[in-house]
Parts: sequence; structure tokens; C-alpha cells
Amino acid sequence: MTDCIFCRIAQGEIPASIVERNREMVAFRDIQPQAPTHVLVIPVQHLGSVRDATGTDGEALLGRMLAFTSRVASSLSLDEDGYRIVTNTGHHGGQSVDHLHFHLLGGRQLHWPPG
Ligand code: AMP
Repeated sequence: MTDCIFCRIAQGEIPASIVERNREMVAFRDIQPQAPTHVLVIPVQHLGSVRDATGTDGEALLGRMLAFTSRVASSLSLDEDGYRIVTNTGHHGGQSVDHLHFHLLGGRQLHWPPG
């Protein structure tokens, strides 16, 4: 989608601090970090949110995204102290960019419940 900022990042049309990428996913640093490490993981393919990752293909993609995100966490040395992976979904979830993304947060104590 040409008007989607995360599609444009995935296509290299908008600069981002890329941490890792493969043919179907990109990990890049959040522009407004909420923790010392705050990385977003997106699929290259446009999906609005986790709600749209349906069927066999969508569910398999979610599994690969989760595995990819945990590998990124390892590569950023987050394994020992731990981290959080979250996907805000829709209005009540606080989603502000309508392209499926996982937040990877680490590097400080995270609290629960979130606000
Ligand atoms: P959410 O509110 O869960 O939809 O998360 C969207 C995230 O995207 C926010 O944490 C923003 O700071 C982040 N964000 C928005 N635009 C950019 C950008 N151009 N580069 C990196 N992160 C961005």
C-alpha cells in the first residue's frame, strides 16, 4: 500500500534503522523508543493487524514472525534479562499504524499490567 508508512519502510522508500530483515519480514528501531531496546517487526506483505493474519498462511506467518522476533531479541542480547513482545490491535489496543507489527521491548524492567 503506497500510503502505508510501514510498507514504505519495507520497500526502502522511507529510511529506518534496520536491525535485521529477510524476504518476508523487517525488524527496525522504533522512532519513539519506550525502552532502551524497542524494535518493530513487520511483514513485508501488508496486513492491517493480527486480526487479518487468518487461515493457514496467516497463522504460519504469525509463527514465523514470533520466531524471527525472538531471534532478533537474542541477537540484541536480551535473552538473559528478558523482554516483551506485544502487538497492539485496533482502537482499544492502542494501535496507531495499521500495518501488522510486533513491538520488541527490553533493556529495562517492564511493568504489568500495562496502562
Ligand atoms: P502502535 O501504536 O502499536 O501502532 O505502534 C506504532 C509504532 O510505530 C509506534 O511505537 C511509533 O513510534 C512507531 N513509528 C511510527 N512511525 C515510525 C517510523 N517512521 N519509524 C519507526 N517507527 C515508527
